[in-house]
Amino acid sequence: MQIDINLKENAYKVYVDELKNLEFDTKVFILSNPKILGLHLKSLLLKIKAKEVFIATVKDGEEYKNLNTIEEILNQMFNSKLDRKSVLISFGGGVISDMGGFAASIYQRGIDFINIPTTLLACVDAAVGGKTGINNAFGKNLIGTFYQPKAVYCQSEFLRTLSARELAAGMAEFIKMAIMFDKNLLEFIESIDAKAFLSASCGDEILTKIIAKSIELKARVVENDEKESGVRMLLNYGHTFAHVIENFTEYKTYLHGEAVAIGMNMANCLACNLGFLSQEECKKIEQILLKFNLPISYKIANIDEFYQAFFRDKKSYNSKINFILPSQLGKGFIKEDISKEIILKTLKVFA
Ligand code: NAD
Repeated sequence: MQIDINLKENAYKVYVDELKNLEFDTKVFILSNPKILGLHLKSLLLKIKAKEVFIATVKDGEEYKNLNTIEEILNQMFNSKLDRKSVLISFGGGVISDMGGFAASIYQRGIDFINIPTTLLACVDAAVGGKTGINNAFGKNLIGTFYQPKAVYCQSEFLRTLSARELAAGMAEFIKMAIMFDKNLLEFIESIDAKAFLSASCGDEILTKIIAKSIELKARVVENDEKESGVRMLLNYGHTFAHVIENFTEYKTYLHGEAVAIGMNMANCLACNLGFLSQEECKKIEQILLKFNLPISYKIANIDEFYQAFFRDKKSYNSKINFILPSQLGKGFIKEDISKEIILKTLKVFA
């Protein structure tokens, strides 16, 4: 299956379960980590023909998604004598695709890159849409570029080695899209046999369907708002809270999707306090998250500190925080003028 990302400039295709042979008359630089290479490098290499292939690895983990690692990647690219026609392939989860895309966007002012995502989270979200970036001491994804890949290849065969936790984390981003944009998608998610899905005993068919549905949705969002000044912001539902939690726990306690699940529950609580979402709708989302073994709560140690951390988020400007909230199941909106009192009341629920 092929899904078009119809951007005015830099249009490309996402191929779902269609990775056959990739031929390049240039140098190819594969960026990954030791774990992923150990599991899947052999089968990837069978599919790539190039003038020269370089394989570069970085340490595994969100805590290494930073400028130091970017510098290491760039050094490896220079050592490989990549030129401006060379192609970088990000082969991994969202951490690899975010860093690979960023490195490609700044190496000699930009070279082509391709994403071959190996986590469900990267297939359904991170690998598509051209947001690249890294974390720093001030917060998550605060440094980065908009830089579209030339193509994305999602292969469910690579997802077979993911743990239940990683599969659930990917599902969290998919649930996010359904709550923001499509009630029917939420019903589809409810119909999934979570046990079979998490034990990876479900067929490829269900993975392919999840990936295709989410990319089709993300494609329409990105086509309408590539640089995230409007509707694309809705994809940050749950993230205002999640980024603070990830930063406070030094990117070590939760997988990104898990933090997003907690963040969505917190956002729902805020939406409930404001009278947008009903208790019933809140409960329904909570049950869907729990069905996939996702966490929904984080103990806030210091409410004031947590509140202040919101202002470092990219979604805050003019000293106002933009919250992305559901107004009902399948529909989201951006709310910026929420009183401090209501926000603190919401945070207290988690203290
Ligand atoms: P990740 O890249 O850290 O991968 C999670 C773990 O799975 C890692 O330990 C990794 O080595 C391992 N792994 C990867 N593929 C595997 C496989 N096939 N089998 C077994 N293990 C495998 O995390 P993630 O959840 O994929 O991505 C999260 C990141 O994505 C965050 O940094 C987040 O900010 C970013 N993100 C970006 C966007 C975007 O639009 N750019 C969107 C959503 C998320």
